[in-house]
Amino acid sequence: MANTPPTQDQNQSVVDRAREVIPGGAQTGLRAQAYNTGDIAFESASDATLTTVTDEQYTDYHLGFGPVILGHAHDDVDAAAQAAIDDGVLYGAGTTPLEVEVAERLVDLLPSVEMVNFCNSGSEATYHAIRLARAATGNKKVLKFEGCYHGWHDYVDVSVYPPTDRVGERYPESDGMLSAAVENTLIAPFNDPEAVNEILHEHGDELAAVILEPIPHSVGCLLPRIEFLETLREATAVHDVPLIFDEVISGFRHSPHGVQGEVGVTPDLTCVAKALGNGYPVAAVGGRADLLAQAGGDNESGVVISGTYSGSLPGLAAARETIDTIVANDVQAYLTDLGDRYRDGLNDLLEDHDINGRIVGHRSIFSVQFGVRGEPHNYEDILGLDEKRFHTFAAGMRERGHFFTPNPYKRHHLSAAHDETHLESYLDAADAVFADL
Ligand code: PMP
Repeated sequence: MANTPPTQDQNQSVVDRAREVIPGGAQTGLRAQAYNTGDIAFESASDATLTTVTDEQYTDYHLGFGPVILGHAHDDVDAAAQAAIDDGVLYGAGTTPLEVEVAERLVDLLPSVEMVNFCNSGSEATYHAIRLARAATGNKKVLKFEGCYHGWHDYVDVSVYPPTDRVGERYPESDGMLSAAVENTLIAPFNDPEAVNEILHEHGDELAAVILEPIPHSVGCLLPRIEFLETLREATAVHDVPLIFDEVISGFRHSPHGVQGEVGVTPDLTCVAKALGNGYPVAAVGGRADLLAQAGGDNESGVVISGTYSGSLPGLAAARETIDTIVANDVQAYLTDLGDRYRDGLNDLLEDHDINGRIVGHRSIFSVQFGVRGEPHNYEDILGLDEKRFHTFAAGMRERGHFFTPNPYKRHHLSAAHDETHLESYLDAADAVFADL
């Protein structure tokens, strides 16, 4: 019997069934946003290509929100994970050579990391980091930066993409959050050394931690002023407040040494996830040995870091292979050059079409932002984005075979599977879409 080609009805049927049994029809609200430019159900992915249930193919710039740095279905990473699966996926007892090897790699590569605890997601990593910091200081308050995202838990889900009229407030992102967590969160504008100094001066003895993405990519890309990072490092050290770098997006994507390795400013605790495992659920909190040792489980040390699946073997095997591949092939040099060419090409197109907009980014990440010019330094600098224009752009690009999240505050990612051909095809499509904007 001949294969029947998939029909649009098949896509709609999956989407309709999803809406019956899954809130919003997708895992997480942000994933449901893929519906913004038309309902869509994906079925497979390889290299830089995403394929839908109706066999439509897209070049993928979303890459699962960023983790898939080597490309989808990467042979070596998957073979490593498969070998771990063959040996049993979970022991949940004692240690394993594999977790020691991955922990040793993190200690070797990330300048500030002396010890490591594994977990499964970026949110778990930031949760554990804050708990470690609260235990070490005996303090409650956490300072974070306006607009930025560090995970879904109550400790940090405050002032995440606040609307214009709520900027500067402790704005809870979700209903159902514990008010005590919200009240114990302080908010400052990113890149403002004076604001940081003032807050540390006023609240230093009440602060448990300062948490930041050293390059905030949860809001596109805010490049840090070096004096801001240095001030933060100095002021937190003076007040003995642990400084947490959330390198969930940047770690292993921008450099095997993290942004901390790029800028030479080192935190006390570091969270890594996403690119660490090329898409497998693996994450870690690492940092100063005295802070991590609190979770040692002996009677002297009282911090509980727990999780049945923490250190699950396929994830760790994927992490070891991903790290080794990145380091051996200098993947970041390739991605930085490719990223520069996407950014240059897009900037030229904005100019050619006389469109008010800007391209922001770093290495393998870029964001296309309409209705704004100049370099953004903090969340307020991206508040004027022309969201409607971005949605039109995303829809036009999708029609031409290029997929990225239609959220104007998010970003494109590149992987080692993207190349010259993808670049040319993307820029040709952007040229055509810009002409109609
Ligand atoms: N921190 C940052 C900077 C993130 O972008 C994210 C996820 N987008 C998280 C933490 C939370 O990670 P996860 O989704 O794996 O829980």
